[in-house]
Amino acid sequence: MDVLHDDTPDLRSLPQERLAALIAGLGEKPFRARQVYRWLHLRGAASLDEMTDVPRALRERLAEGTRLTTLERATEQRSADGTIKWTWRTRDGKLVESVYMPETDRKTLCVSTQVGCAVGCTFCMTGTMGLARNLTPGEIVDQVHRANRRLIELGEGEGPRPLTNLVFMGMGEPLANYRSLKIALDLLLSEDGPNFSHRHVTVSTSGLVPVMRRLGEETQVKLAVSLNATTDAQRDAIMPINRRYPLAELLRACREFPMKQGRRITFEYVMLGGVNDAPEDAERLARLLRGIPAKVNLIPYNENPGLGFAAPAPGAVDRFRDLLVARNVTAVVRRNRGTDIAAACGQLAAEGGPGDPRRRAAAPLTGTPAAG
Ligand code: SAH
Ligand code: SF4
Repeated sequence: MDVLHDDTPDLRSLPQERLAALIAGLGEKPFRARQVYRWLHLRGAASLDEMTDVPRALRERLAEGTRLTTLERATEQRSADGTIKWTWRTRDGKLVESVYMPETDRKTLCVSTQVGCAVGCTFCMTGTMGLARNLTPGEIVDQVHRANRRLIELGEGEGPRPLTNLVFMGMGEPLANYRSLKIALDLLLSEDGPNFSHRHVTVSTSGLVPVMRRLGEETQVKLAVSLNATTDAQRDAIMPINRRYPLAELLRACREFPMKQGRRITFEYVMLGGVNDAPEDAERLARLLRGIPAKVNLIPYNENPGLGFAAPAPGAVDRFRDLLVARNVTAVVRRNRGTDIAAACGQLAAEGGPGDPRRRAAAPLTGTPAAG
């Protein structure tokens, strides 16, 4: 089944105005389109049957000419720290993951945009999988809808939308799937939908410079950049994308990124023991970021067996942060969450990564270029 090239329109993937046109084309009044839209994106209806106040005749016509993406919950793992990791199954049997991270003042979902990732960072579990395919807009937004619904069931908040924040930091490189990402963002930020504020939505990229420019022109969401190194030689070695868009170009795109008043770009810096965690790295990092409204997120490496990297030595992370702070760079250490359920940064590999228990199971996983 080819989900990406299926001619039957997926109701969940349609931009709001396309859904309106489709429903108008069936001879219905505009308020019907809005009603269906709210079922799809505000209440997260799993099927047309749930839309009880939509006339049965309209539901039947929609069922004939369209389909509706609803992810199936395959697994749910709950960490001692409150983190929940879900694995969702797509219509064609692919697995993707989302991670819920509750804090006192916010409830964040980390969302995936691709099955696997083609960027191939050498330290990242998702990177070892290669890219199976892009997610559709419906598959991106439905992670949010399924999570909201499940959180309500679990008593984790009031309906219809317990989640307050979204970070596009799950599996995949969001900007390598920009078309779907943009539609998904429009749906998630729409007033008739979940109505997330752009201040509460962050897209993370490994540094696809031309698409960063587009994101800045076409949306107002926040930007995070996975920097992870302070020299081209270092970054080339761990993030192959650096050979296409080296540090100088990446940082120029950051300087030119349109920023609302008071906004900052988040720079993620995975600390790899003995690779990029020396005091000289902190000094270089402070110099590279000069003039950019920036906040550095230091992420101690979550070890993935078999990838050949180690967590930084005890004390190295705090020392690194202190060096940045002393140079007037805002820096925080990101507390690792959900490590007991392999839900932490860079550990997402629903299909067949070395850390995946299913990989050792008898059932063969088909169609996934899993390496590692
Ligand atoms: N592809 C995008 C979005 C994914 S975000 C990007 O790379 O920005 C995933 C974040 O986790 C990135 O900042 C990445 O550098 C980081 N990461 C990957 N593997 C990790 C690991 N094993 N430990 C800690 N952080 C990791
Ligand atoms: Fe892809 Fe991001 Fe992992 Fe790099 S860190 S392989 S870009 S998911």
